[in-house]
Amino acid sequence: MTDRNHPGAGVDYEELYEAFLDLERVRRREAESRQVAEILLDGLRDLTSATTAQDGLDSVLSILRQAGGFAAVFVLVEEAQDVFKVLSSTDSVFEGTVWRKKEVFSRLLERMKPLVVYDTRSVPEWQRHPGVVRERAKAAVHAPFAFGRVRAVLTCVREENGACAQTDAKLLYRLMPLLEQTLLTMRRMDELRLAKAALHAKSCALESTVQENRLLARTDFLTDLPNRRGFFEAGAKEIRRAHRYGRPLSVLLLDLDHFKKVNDVYGHDVGDHVLAQFGQKCRGRLREHDLMARLGGEEFAVLLPETPVAEASQVAEGLRRFVEGSSLAGVLEAGEVTVSIGVCELAPQEDSLSEVLKRVDTALYMAKQAGRNLVRPEQAFPASRAS
Ligand code: GH3
Ligand code: MG
Ligand code: MG
Repeated sequence: MTDRNHPGAGVDYEELYEAFLDLERVRRREAESRQVAEILLDGLRDLTSATTAQDGLDSVLSILRQAGGFAAVFVLVEEAQDVFKVLSSTDSVFEGTVWRKKEVFSRLLERMKPLVVYDTRSVPEWQRHPGVVRERAKAAVHAPFAFGRVRAVLTCVREENGACAQTDAKLLYRLMPLLEQTLLTMRRMDELRLAKAALHAKSCALESTVQENRLLARTDFLTDLPNRRGFFEAGAKEIRRAHRYGRPLSVLLLDLDHFKKVNDVYGHDVGDHVLAQFGQKCRGRLREHDLMARLGGEEFAVLLPETPVAEASQVAEGLRRFVEGSSLAGVLEAGEVTVSIGVCELAPQEDSLSEVLKRVDTALYMAKQAGRNLVRPEQAFPASRAS
């Protein structure tokens, strides 16, 4: 009790001093908690930018090390029965160390609660490690946890004997759920990323199979030229282009003469070879933007963009002469295989290939009628080879 007239009289100084010490302790604890909270917040910020489980784990360990003021922190995971290996560590000295489960780890994993090791020299799990490892870790706190189905041990160390205390164990006990949850989330992120990558690879493979099939469906397997479908698709585009820009577009229709005889005399295989050679060699004599296709059997077509019929007839004549003068498959004499060619130019009102093909087919028929091995442009133009 205090006497109002005599301030200070009756004061229990001892009690006051105790209260002052209590207050100091509370203040200190509050300052420490605030510091830990700040470290945790900083760490969580780091954690949110982690993109892999390993990055996440490294961040968590770094948070724990700072929050507890430890010399180092590392995580051990069970690799084989009772053998633990370092998964991640804030100090390279612990990396690659292998830990066998002895008494302390057995107790630890049974109780699943953190355990303080005041002097690592007295613990069998620590004894077998080299001096540099024990130098860095004279005292330790081990905290067991489950990483999915894998058993794991978080270990925090200090460099002085007796420096780890129950307060460290309490801190870890409080923080373990955070560690467990973070690791699981991170691992799921990794799994998700892997699954996404696998899905992406599969859809790429599927896409390229689709592309391959598209190409195959439009390619003639014998000559490697576009087939009828490829020709009609590309032709439709060329017709639109020619009309849009008002440019000339011509079509050649080529049919090998008396080809049945080639098969009869030399056999079907030689016939195939002649067809393949004919396709490839004629293609090689055209411009890059000309389009040659095998429409079927021994019938071929060529689209000549930017080419009026007179010029197209000259191109056709060049092909005709080349075929006439070449042995193609090597087994035949030059002149044994010849070709008749019809030529015509796209008319302004025509907007489909089939219309042009009808006209050019008539021109080809005329060439056949006139004796074969001839180029026949549509009626208006004379034959380019005197028969
Ligand atoms: P024409 O001068 O009137 O065109 O006579 P042709 O014998 O060439 O014409 P026809 O239409 O009577 O016969 C075409 C021949 O082409 C018959 C067929 O055996 C042959 N032929 C068609 N496709 C192939 C093929 O893929 N390979 C082989 N080796 N021959 C083919
Ligand atoms: Mg023929
Ligand atoms: Mg034919």
